[in-house]
Amino acid sequence: MDDSVFRNEVQAFLTESLTPEMKQAGELMTSVFADFDVAMDWHKVLYHKGWIAPDWPQEYGGTGWTLNQRYIFQEECKLANAPAVFALGLQMLGPMLIHYGTQEQKDFYLPRILSGEDSWCQGYSEPGAGSDLASLITAAVRDGNDYIINGSKIWTSYAQHSNKIFCLVRTSKEGRPQAGISFILVDMDSTGLSVEPIVGLDGTVEQCQVFFDDVRVPAVNLVGVENQGWDVAKYLLEFERGGHNYAIDHKKQMAKINRQANSQYSSGNTLWKDNKVFAAKFADVAVDALALEFTELRVKGAFEAGGNAGALSSLTKVMGTEIGQRFNELSLEMMGEHAFVQQLDALLPGCEVEPIGPSCGLTTMAEYINNRAATIYGGSAEIQRDIIAKRVLHL
Ligand SMILES: Cc1cc2nc3c(=O)[nH]c(=O)nc-3n(C[C@H](O)[C@H](O)[C@H](O)COP(=O)(O)OP(=O)(O)OC[C@H]3O[C@@H](n4cnc5c(N)ncnc54)[C@H](O)[C@@H]3O)c2cc1C
Repeated sequence: MDDSVFRNEVQAFLTESLTPEMKQAGELMTSVFADFDVAMDWHKVLYHKGWIAPDWPQEYGGTGWTLNQRYIFQEECKLANAPAVFALGLQMLGPMLIHYGTQEQKDFYLPRILSGEDSWCQGYSEPGAGSDLASLITAAVRDGNDYIINGSKIWTSYAQHSNKIFCLVRTSKEGRPQAGISFILVDMDSTGLSVEPIVGLDGTVEQCQVFFDDVRVPAVNLVGVENQGWDVAKYLLEFERGGHNYAIDHKKQMAKINRQANSQYSSGNTLWKDNKVFAAKFADVAVDALALEFTELRVKGAFEAGGNAGALSSLTKVMGTEIGQRFNELSLEMMGEHAFVQQLDALLPGCEVEPIGPSCGLTTMAEYINNRAATIYGGSAEIQRDIIAKRVLHL
């Protein structure tokens, strides 16, 4: 199908299917996560349409779209303010299970990820293991047909909304640290598992700490081979780190700054039109964003030709997240004192609280704060630069 015909089809579907509340939830997003309940409503709409997992192979419920069509779909969803679906199951666990899962695991878990029956969170990081993930110590000890897990995971995004968690656990202390790690699937309602919310700087809860106190998990929940979970973990991380199209995020950010500029201009703030320093800063970021878009298209071209992104995905991660942060700073500058208003209740979709100042500035400060984390999660900017130094520059 011609790409423009496909784009029209997607636009028509979005116009017809996105409710005002869903669009509001998309507009009010202050991080990569949307309001959970509204995002689940949108998940179900996509599921019934058969469009919930464009990146999966068609035999497992994918759409069979080309890479270009998937890009167009993502772009149109974002620009139409569709709320982001909570995607750890769809984007990470599902593709990993398709590769490493047993037939039973695939038959059981994949349909539940597609339908939204299961929401998965990621239990990798620990208080003492982040960038140096292989130093993790949460232990799983074999006991008959079960493992018994003790320890803790931290920064677990949306654990409070999830009914399942995929975890890296230590099953051996012999040899290299990577050699004694296993990958296991755990029910969040298991006896001994508890969740403590972590309140973010913006006053909301997106991350949690998860505690395991003698949590008994059936051994059939292991993915791959005992003590060889590091390979499984790395394979899953390829889906976390690769394939994100930052250029689409940047287009949404630019459109928002434009709206903010117009709202500010009409109330006498001439920063946008008359301040050459601001204009030059904006142009500087916009040019970098355009260069990144072409790099991302180049990566997509490499995929289409059967190759892989290699170290280019580290480059796009660093550039994509840092450009996003520079747009956040411009947005903050644009909104001036309005950015300092904190109205948490006005950020809830469906809420009719009157915003203080222009409504397009409601999210500015929270977005700025939350997006500081983008250069930390999914592999910090320093780690990505190490990879570029070694693998691209051969230093
Ligand atoms: C918003 C958010 C959501 C997250 N969600 C999840 C989740 O759902 N599940 C999950 O498992 N984890 C999650 N994480 C955790 C995330 O993966 C870790 O924060 C990340 O891996 C960094 O680890 P750390 O926080 O322990 O920092 P550290 O690894 O202690 O790093 C501290 C600083 O030192 C630098 N540094 C470390 N090692 C090196 C090195 N070798 N060379 C140069 N610099 C280095 C880092 O870049 C960083 O600046 C989330 C984190 C955030 C902020």
